[in-house]
Amino acid sequence: MIKKKFNVPHIETGVIFRENIKNHTELGKKAKDFIDRGELVPDEITIPMILARLTESDCKNGWLLDGFPRNLAQAKALSEALEHAGIRLDYVIEIVLPRDIAKKRIMGRRLCAVDNNHPNNIYIDAIKPVEKNGKLYCRVCGSDKLSVRPDDQDEAAIDKRHDIYYDTKTGTLAAVNYFKNRAKTVAVDGLPSVEEVSAELSSRLS
Ligand code: AMP
Repeated sequence: MIKKKFNVPHIETGVIFRENIKNHTELGKKAKDFIDRGELVPDEITIPMILARLTESDCKNGWLLDGFPRNLAQAKALSEALEHAGIRLDYVIEIVLPRDIAKKRIMGRRLCAVDNNHPNNIYIDAIKPVEKNGKLYCRVCGSDKLSVRPDDQDEAAIDKRHDIYYDTKTGTLAAVNYFKNRAKTVAVDGLPSVEEVSAELSSRLS
């Protein structure tokens, strides 16, 4: 929705890492073990990778960063780099969700090989994949290539990710708080339906 509304690239750190793992690159090799364990890939790798990505030509008119910054150090590095480049951050979006529900949604997620932005989740009625003869198909494009991420099915890895996310001292919520008096932060309740959350968010990003 945001990508379409503002016509900006959707840059997801997790997707960049997974593509590198799939393509057996050096970056992928370095990142894989951290991702499998649910730990953050070290800042020395992640921060320069994302800051470099933001200088590419498709980012000239803006971008949507998803999955970055994930800790306080990344938030500070991003903030400093933007200040240096004279770029203003328009919004910081926080989708607020209780930890147990977030865990269930992670475990129910099914990834479409055709398009990473085709949402499918076996636990969310509005975006359930289509089931035919015991097989699941993407609800958006009908592809039979739905998969799960190994780190989405490993409860210890999910708990680790959530320990980092909900950490208000140095983790993701610390990054959110860091931006509270530096950018316009928009917090949206993630509990309602996909349509309601999208509509609420869209109305708050004007
Ligand atoms: P995600 O697709 O956002 O769930 O990210 C999957 C995994 O990629 C995370 O559990 C981390 O191991 C790694 N990752 C994604 N974003 C970051 C980040 N900003 N900093 C460090 N590691 C990250």
